[in-house]
Formats: sequence, structure tokens, C-alpha cells
Amino acid sequence: MIKILDNFIIESDKELDYFEDVVNHIIENERRIFEFFKLDKLPNKVRIMILSYEPFKEFVVSKYGEIMDYVSGDSDSKSNTIRILNIEDQIKYTTHKDASVEKIKGTALHEIVHQCHHIYHNDYRGITWFAEGLATNLSNQEYNLKSLEDCDFDKLRSDFRHYKGNYNYSYTLVNYILNNYTEEDIKKLYSNPDYLREHADLIFDEAKNWVNFQLVESNLKKHF
Ligand SMILES: [Zn+2]
Repeated sequence: MIKILDNFIIESDKELDYFEDVVNHIIENERRIFEFFKLDKLPNKVRIMILSYEPFKEFVVSKYGEIMDYVSGDSDSKSNTIRILNIEDQIKYTTHKDASVEKIKGTALHEIVHQCHHIYHNDYRGITWFAEGLATNLSNQEYNLKSLEDCDFDKLRSDFRHYKGNYNYSYTLVNYILNNYTEEDIKKLYSNPDYLREHADLIFDEAKNWVNFQLVESNLKKHF
């Protein structure tokens, strides 16, 4: 199946009854994501491939040397290509046993956020946590704020892929930024990796306190 849009070419390697749903979700949300990144359009058309496990795995292993069992999407900046594992095979082969049309729509936006981010730079040393935090927040994926008290930020920074809780911590850190920093500051953080690395420790300390406060507040609301 294939659909050609102004900014995206969306295709799948087999017939999917939710293909149109994914296409429409992208059409409904692309403006909002472009506006966040101050983009009118993408400089290069991005190809979005919804794939079966074999071709998906082959690509991920060739890029990272391994495939983690939670991986369901990938955004490749060199080829402007997004690869997403189809729902059936996410259920069969990954930890996403609850994969659904709603969730794959979120994954598509998540990877589009990465493509927009790539336009500004391609240096993610130590800042994958931020890239993943932006992607989970802007795609409205289902994460909750998580206390950062037990988060080993050095481990999250240095070995994101293998750190348990990685996406939830990242979501929380960037949720703090999006709710507390100015648009101008946020732009500096996503467009200048050195600036982000310099400010990361400060962000972490601030976010840790902020989250504790948010969690206490939401607990109080539950009790009264
Ligand atoms: Zn991601």
C-alpha cells in the first residue's frame, strides 16, 4: 500500500486494514509538530515504511548491531526513512503485547518528531534521553510522570538503550522542560547539542524537584 503526501511517502509491505488510519493521523498532526520545530515543511520528503518483522529486524540489526525486544520503530536521518513494525508483528515479536492502531499512530508521530529534530543536528552523544523525551511528549504517547529519585542520570545519558525505565525518565525530564522553559530556550535545547549537554545536569536537578512536587500534588488531589 502507498500514499504520497507533500512531506511524506507512506507505504507498507503488506495489506493493512489500519493503513488509512495511520495516514490520516499523520495528516492531522504534522502541522503541530512542524510548528513546534519552526518548520514550514520538511526539506526532504520522508519515507515511512510499515514493515513485517523480517525486513524491520534486518535493518535495525544492520544499524545497531542488535535488536532490543522493545524496538517498534526507527528513524534514519541519513536516508530520511522511518521504519515501523506492523501491529501483528509487534505483538508476536516484541514486548508490545498490547500493540494497537492507537499505539502505532503514536509511534508514527514519534518517529516524525525524530526526523524534524534531525534537521537541526545529528549529534546525539549523551542526549538520546532528550530526543526520546521530545518524541514521546510531542506524539502524545501514553507515559506518566515518574519520580527521578532513583534515576541514574549518567547511565541514562551514556547507555540509553540498555537502561531500564529509559523512555519513562526521558518523558518526565522533557515534560518538565516543555512545561517550564520558554520557547526560545527550548529551541536552543533541540538545535544546539553542546548547549543541551552543558545544561543537562541543571535540568536534571530542577526536574527532579519539580516532579516530586507534581506527584505530591496529584496524590493530594486523589485523597481530597
Ligand atoms: Zn524514539
